[in-house]
Amino acid sequence: MSRELIDLAIERLREDFPSKSRSWVRRALVRFMKNTVKEYGENVWVVKGLTELGDKYPTYVVRFKDGRYYCSCFESSWGLRRKSEVCTHIAAVILYRNYKKLDSEVYASVINIECVDYYLEIPSELRGKVKVVKSVRVIDATDKLNPRHRVTYVIYANEPMEVRARLTCDGEVRELSLKLVRTRRYMIELLTH
Ligand SMILES: [Zn+2]
Repeated sequence: MSRELIDLAIERLREDFPSKSRSWVRRALVRFMKNTVKEYGENVWVVKGLTELGDKYPTYVVRFKDGRYYCSCFESSWGLRRKSEVCTHIAAVILYRNYKKLDSEVYASVINIECVDYYLEIPSELRGKVKVVKSVRVIDATDKLNPRHRVTYVIYANEPMEVRARLTCDGEVRELSLKLVRTRRYMIELLTH
């Protein structure tokens, strides 16, 4: 497992549950690092119990249904109290899924430009197939109404392909042919966060 990926997976977990405590995150991380999460089927995971974290059962089953996670620990004697919470079995599953997603392969191309006005156009027939994310940073705000930006575009898809794009930077239009090459999802996160 890569440290960088784990850090990003934790960051996403924190963003999704900003009110959760440090110890909640830490317990989820312990479960994840001890490799206790196994995918059992579509939207079903089995999480091995850890006595050091107070688990009474050898395994817990986490399911994702109708946009919500459910854990078998909800059905235990503490179930009523726990039902409204997101237990750390679920948090470990979310970490596991975040990690897997970040580790997955995508095909991407990166464009870096510096302009006041900018626009990237991808052919409409590729919409849904090709995704574009960008990160924008002001690098010169001398002219307050027209600050200059450094813009990073990442164009990516699930399969290798060549994408024609039209890039407009301060009125200058360029036709580009972008070759999407294999990389991993977390590289996109690093470039655009
Ligand atoms: Zn649970």
